[in-house]
Amino acid sequence: MEKVALIKCGYYNVNLIEEKIREGFKLLGGEKFLRKLIPYNSKVLLKPNLLNIEKPGSIAVTHYAVFEAVIRVLKDYSSDITFGDSPGFGDSRKAAERSGLIDVASKYDVKFDGFSDSIHVRLEDSILCKSWNVAKAAYEADVVITLPKLKTHGMAFYTGAIKNQFGCVPGTQKATWHTRMPDANNFCKMLLDLNTLIGTDFAILDGIVAMQGNGPKSGEPYKLNTLIMGESLTAVDSVAVRLIGYDNPLDIPVLKEAKDYNWGPVLPNEIEVLGEKIEDLKVDDFKLCRKAGNFYFVSPVVNNFLRGMIAPYPSLIENKCIGCKRCKEVCPENPKAINMIKDSNTLMPEWDMTKCIRCFCCQELCPEGAIELKYNTLGRILGMSRR
Ligand code: SF4
Ligand code: SF4
Repeated sequence: MEKVALIKCGYYNVNLIEEKIREGFKLLGGEKFLRKLIPYNSKVLLKPNLLNIEKPGSIAVTHYAVFEAVIRVLKDYSSDITFGDSPGFGDSRKAAERSGLIDVASKYDVKFDGFSDSIHVRLEDSILCKSWNVAKAAYEADVVITLPKLKTHGMAFYTGAIKNQFGCVPGTQKATWHTRMPDANNFCKMLLDLNTLIGTDFAILDGIVAMQGNGPKSGEPYKLNTLIMGESLTAVDSVAVRLIGYDNPLDIPVLKEAKDYNWGPVLPNEIEVLGEKIEDLKVDDFKLCRKAGNFYFVSPVVNNFLRGMIAPYPSLIENKCIGCKRCKEVCPENPKAINMIKDSNTLMPEWDMTKCIRCFCCQELCPEGAIELKYNTLGRILGMSRR
């Protein structure tokens, strides 16, 4: 059985979080476990979630206190630690500075890599994607530890350990993957292949304050009081989604794909939860972004047919829009799926849903939170909408 440590932690206090992370490692096997995870002289890469240029403590990004606590623990095992990410929009370094992570890193001699150097590699033993261009620093690190934030996500329903590593695809190349993989099933297979390629070794998920509702950027805070740690990304994500209200982890597209391809443990009977019990920490009022039955992902043909009828679509909250055009700029189907139109002297996006692939990059990266997911009548009748 795969072991996952589920730790209760109520505050963003570095000393407290450090203590909790040490407790999590102790549950997983202590010193022996850590020495195996981080062999002597290893180059360690930390991959936080830096979604965008966000202020310190923003619920859209990995909290700087979690980041600092992780460094304090890992410093005992490696003197060569780098952290990096490549947000979907904007400058990586600015995002790292603004979030407070650069300041923390500089205290501990941890370097930053903005993932601008990429490397072309092949993954022969893939589920779907063999040819890759990924961040060199992530690919060449000996040990990769992902530090995701627990959030809802328009396309993926939930973002955590597996999805966080999409940041290892440099900058705007992410949009190319959305265009190549408009089908949610294939996009999830791609995420699994990417994690195989990078060789993500461990996950520490920041769920102290999670994001509910219109995630992964514009949702609301939910105090979930948890840290989840483990070597298996699927197991960590499986525990996380059960905490926020998905009783069946297979309702999450990427976990369904992982199960189908035997990529990692997903089901409750494959995972041993150490520390707290899921039943004691799970909540029943977390606002999910999407809710789905498995039938939606039965086959790509069904998927394509149903997408227009039941899948959610991006919708404008007009009084929040400032006409900045970022939604159009980040759209992988630009210029076809979004047009900027003038509405009483203000520019506003208008969608062509026949061209939109429902990747929700526009919703994810709108700086004003002016885009939300909406469902048509059939989608609501079939129970696909958020609670
Ligand atoms: S919807 Fe958001 S990203 Fe698009 S123009 Fe309005 S404010 Fe900018
Ligand atoms: S309009 Fe939005 S959801 Fe549709 S393809 Fe473009 S970015 Fe993706």
